[in-house]
Amino acid sequence: MKIKIFLLAFVLSLSSSFSYAQKFHINRIDPPSWWTGMHDPNLQLLIFGPKISETRPVINYPGICIEQVIHVPSPDYLFLDLVISPQTKPGTFAIHFKKGKKEVTSYRYTLNKRDKNPRLHQGFNSSDVIYLIMPDRFANGDTTNDNMPGMLEKVNRSNPNGRHGGDIKGIEEHLNYLKNLGITTIWCTPLMEDNMPTYSYHGYAQTDYYKVDPRFGTNRDYKNLVKEAHQKGLKVIQDMVFNHCGTNYFWKNDLPTPDWYNEWPKFTRSNYHGGVVSDPHASQYDYRHMVAGWFDTSMADLNQNNPLVANYLIQNSIWWIEYAGLDGIRQDTYPYPYKNFMAKWMQRILEEYPHFNVVGETWFSYPATVAYWLENNRNKDGYHSHLTNVFDFPLMYAINKAFNEKPGWDTGLARLYEVLSQDFVYSDPMKLCIFADNHDTERIFSSLHENLKSWKMAMAFLLTTRGIPEIYYGDEILMTGEKAKGDGNIRKDFPGGWPGDKINAFTPQGRTPEQNNAFNYLRKLLNWRKSNKTVQFGKLTHYIVENGVYVYFRSYEGKKVMVMLNNNEKPVMVNLTRFAEDLNGFSKARNVINDNTFSFGKEMKLQGKSAEILELEK
Ligand code: CA
Repeated sequence: MKIKIFLLAFVLSLSSSFSYAQKFHINRIDPPSWWTGMHDPNLQLLIFGPKISETRPVINYPGICIEQVIHVPSPDYLFLDLVISPQTKPGTFAIHFKKGKKEVTSYRYTLNKRDKNPRLHQGFNSSDVIYLIMPDRFANGDTTNDNMPGMLEKVNRSNPNGRHGGDIKGIEEHLNYLKNLGITTIWCTPLMEDNMPTYSYHGYAQTDYYKVDPRFGTNRDYKNLVKEAHQKGLKVIQDMVFNHCGTNYFWKNDLPTPDWYNEWPKFTRSNYHGGVVSDPHASQYDYRHMVAGWFDTSMADLNQNNPLVANYLIQNSIWWIEYAGLDGIRQDTYPYPYKNFMAKWMQRILEEYPHFNVVGETWFSYPATVAYWLENNRNKDGYHSHLTNVFDFPLMYAINKAFNEKPGWDTGLARLYEVLSQDFVYSDPMKLCIFADNHDTERIFSSLHENLKSWKMAMAFLLTTRGIPEIYYGDEILMTGEKAKGDGNIRKDFPGGWPGDKINAFTPQGRTPEQNNAFNYLRKLLNWRKSNKTVQFGKLTHYIVENGVYVYFRSYEGKKVMVMLNNNEKPVMVNLTRFAEDLNGFSKARNVINDNTFSFGKEMKLQGKSAEILELEK
């Protein structure tokens, strides 16, 4: 009997403590950790737990002070403004949540020591070549993570728009392949959790900005990927998406504030006309629909004018840069978020990481609109983006047309000349990321009607003109894909990336003779580019396209590279007289593809549909 009474008392005491424990607990705190020794001593924690706003947070840790506790309309959040003094030591401490004098729950929070290795966060520049990977479609290194508990979409490789199972391990296993190819930098389309029921493979509807999608791996796997890439001399750029998050984000049924998203009386889509943001004649109607309209029904439009949303996003970027040791960021849909927020975001990143680079997806047809978004541009409205790099979409459009057309006043190779001739609009044209295709466009080989000669000319141009080239995975094996057939068609699996694939195009034996021809050409060009400062940094001088021949030079510290593109089917004899200002003092040339050195006189013969890339010698 005594035992029974004791047990009853015990159960009662347990249930009373449970009643508190059940009432107050922390579901998550973002950012999940932080660092000491940051340039900015401020840290804002988002604390999420049922009715947590009824409690009073207390921290007893030397160097940390709670500057402000922010209450929001939802009772399930607290925002905690902390100041971390420079003397604060790394360590784990408790955040006590109290009601009156009684602690009702607590949370262990860790401040790590900041890694001040100067080789980290080095940024990227025109000495780099970026290789764009869509992780779900590149290589499946771990089939056990193809389907994961709690993840809504299951693997289905037969669906072009479904998940195919590629992952971080698959990328890691091919780092040597990439290094051998000669690229210097990897950009993966988003790796964060995208727990949407369909189209989750592309990762642009992220449902957790702090967690790698378990079907790709873990945060630790990602950190290791960056570390291994660095050990092989490769850099890593992370794709981020701050215009919108997936509608399944953890806060979906319980937004901290009613204005967390840009809300409309009924679903309202963006007009996708990014140009209205810089357009001096734009209407408020168009502007509002552009920046506050939703990208898609599955993608909630974040309101970065809410300072809590803004801080959440800024700290998320800094967290990943510091946690994973990133070298750069690619920011999605750059004109879609509020531009003043984006400028502030950039400034905060550069304060912490002065040599860091961010490239924005500035998808415009005209150089002037792209230029508006590049740092130090003299915009009439006074806007300064602080964005270090932009994508050169106008040049991409030109590349996709130039090699297919007959010579004309403004067609054929003249398109390349015309786009580059507008470089005066850019504060620094070398900051442009240039590309022939990406995950949203026609595959370049398809665009060029699967003509290998045209493809070689396009690659030769891409890797020798000004800017930072980007190559889309599989371009090196002439992968095809047509935008008109859907996004899945331009995002096919890399052959050989999956266990049991009949063809393995990662190896020479698995490639067709034509694929090996292309691969070897690109590898030769990339590896030459990697060690040639003239083509990386040299001043560009180009000559008007005449009779379908485009000639340009890159000049750097007395050295010169000469490039001649002949877009005619037939060979042509080119009179060199008009290039005298660049050729003076040089009499020999080394062809960088076949390593032949030869003397030249007043003329040079070019094969039909060919590119000559020559290092000039005295
Ligand atoms: Ca997998």
